[in-house]
Amino acid sequence: MNVDSIQNGIVIDHISAGKGMMLYDLLGLDQLDASIAIIKNVNSHKMGKKDIIKIDADIPVDLDLIGYVDPDATVNVIKNGILVDKRSPELPETLVDVIKCKNPRCITCVEQELKHIFRLTDKERRIYRCIYCETKAN
Ligand code: ZN
Repeated sequence: MNVDSIQNGIVIDHISAGKGMMLYDLLGLDQLDASIAIIKNVNSHKMGKKDIIKIDADIPVDLDLIGYVDPDATVNVIKNGILVDKRSPELPETLVDVIKCKNPRCITCVEQELKHIFRLTDKERRIYRCIYCETKAN
């Protein structure tokens, strides 16, 4: 595909350099049957370097998840080659089934059907803690 001319799809822009792959993994884009481009270390006036993800498919994207990885990213929705929507994710208060608790003694390790829920406990430093055992997410 021509990465510059998506007709119908999503462009996630202004991702902090280095976080593009993390976002790709967390959004499960590897399971998507569509053309996807990750462009890393793009020169940006505003940020120095940034990553961009272009998805050539009109798929729903999880803004909470994007906000968790990088609240400064912007999500552009393209339809028929025209930018129709621009969204700025926010740092979500809670994360449900986005990341897993890494404490081996956490109840979520034992009770497989439990949802993995993290709550934002420090907005300044973007720290999330497991609601069951208080373990910090990295
Ligand atoms: Zn936990």
